[in-house]
Amino acid sequence: RRKWRRVLGVLAELEERCATPVGKLKQVVDAMAVEMHAGLASEGGSKLKMLLTFVDRLPSGSEKGTYYALDVGGTNFRILRVQLGGQRSSILEPHVEQQAVPAHVMTSTSENLFDLIASALKEFVDRGEDGSKTLVSRRGELGFTFSFPVKQRSVSSGILIKCTKGLHIEDMVRREVTECLEQAMSRKRLNMRVAVLVNDTVGTLALGHYHDEDTVAAVIFGTGTNACYWERTDAIIKCQGLLTTFGGMVINMEWGNFWSSHFPSTSYDTDLDSHSSSPNDQGFEKMISGMYLGEAVRRVLLRMSRESDIFGTVPSRLSVPFIFSLTGLMNATEFHGIPLFNFRIPMISAMHEDDSPELIEVARILEDDLEIPDVPLKVRKLIVKLCNVVTRRAARLAAAGIVGILKKIGRDGSGGITGGRTRSDVKMRRTVVAIEGSLYTSYTMFREYLHEALWEILGEDIAPHVILKVIEDGPGIGAALLAATYSKDS
Ligand code: ADP
Repeated sequence: RRKWRRVLGVLAELEERCATPVGKLKQVVDAMAVEMHAGLASEGGSKLKMLLTFVDRLPSGSEKGTYYALDVGGTNFRILRVQLGGQRSSILEPHVEQQAVPAHVMTSTSENLFDLIASALKEFVDRGEDGSKTLVSRRGELGFTFSFPVKQRSVSSGILIKCTKGLHIEDMVRREVTECLEQAMSRKRLNMRVAVLVNDTVGTLALGHYHDEDTVAAVIFGTGTNACYWERTDAIIKCQGLLTTFGGMVINMEWGNFWSSHFPSTSYDTDLDSHSSSPNDQGFEKMISGMYLGEAVRRVLLRMSRESDIFGTVPSRLSVPFIFSLTGLMNATEFHGIPLFNFRIPMISAMHEDDSPELIEVARILEDDLEIPDVPLKVRKLIVKLCNVVTRRAARLAAAGIVGILKKIGRDGSGGITGGRTRSDVKMRRTVVAIEGSLYTSYTMFREYLHEALWEILGEDIAPHVILKVIEDGPGIGAALLAATYSKDS
């Protein structure tokens, strides 16, 4: 029928626009390397901020002693303690405690927020290893992961640039974050020093490097996305003369803001961007991160539904922004005796990964979560295809981003951005990229498409030397490790 043909036309056009042949991906790789270069050349020289972290040493495995970490990044904060024995241990067993920040505190004053955190820290420290009260005499050292935009002044200090993600405390903007915490700790009579102030990707790189010294970069694929990597000091042109360190430094790329004219962008992406809370910003993030994947799918489905009668009248829930980024219930109530009612995964992957021939899970999500009953099988198949197009594009662009970093540091087998050398005279070194985030760890299709594209771009001679390693709890444990690296004792 004509209307069905129109729906197929919408899908075909989308597939064509979202195509990411390896030639296009290589253009994105080059663009990433070029933008990185520009962002390092001058402040504001690129959409990539390429922020200095002042982390010029990474954990080596020889760290010793007890260290703490505090991870603040949203509506929860976490406190950890790790004990390091001086010999790299493959399993670090931290003591962890998590607490929610009540909504009214997230919007009150910095004193209220940090008093709450410092009290919890004090209790945690006082309780000691075995839960009994201990007398702590030595000054504790803390790695502080604060995942909001911070302009770093030194490895342990920086000012908050702006409030994001539910944090609305006006008196904190442009304040020294570490100072706020240290003042609260002294109000609570907690003898603790902030040894490092980092963002979450840097923690992941630190933990990755602790386990494996060939780790050169860390990438997070979750609700949002970001990356950091180890850069040689002489390549950080914008700070020549200011940096006293030899060797290198970790650069926080803020890569979510990357944009290239080579992106396979569609009208749906343009609309998504203009209706978002940050138009013209975070372009790469809007193409690849967990928060936006489902939203692109929703926009296409809404258009299909308006142009045809695949769902009868246009279902009202399809008009709810970000409904696909919320979660759908898994098609099981029990797994090895564990009730799964409350296990929620986002609709896009639940539908995409429905491997039942009749697409039962897709039908169930449409009916229960989107309130669209009795959708015929051929439409359900179309929806799965749609999820596939969007996720495949995201994963392949993500792979190109990773290779862009490798290219910038000369680990893509091509001899680096300045070139000069040919493939054959470069001996490719083993290169590890630490990865964190459940978009990568939980969404199998995303992960597989990413790996596939990585191989296509790098080729089979180089690809085996590049290892993506999942790192868990980098923002916590990694920060404690950095506290050890930057300890007064070391
Ligand atoms: P964070 O919110 O700190 O990034 P995570 O790394 O756990 O935390 O990422 C959570 C996000 O990852 C979710 O918001 C969702 O977008 C995405 N995500 C998690 N699990 C899945 C999944 N199975 N399929 C698709 N996306 C997922």
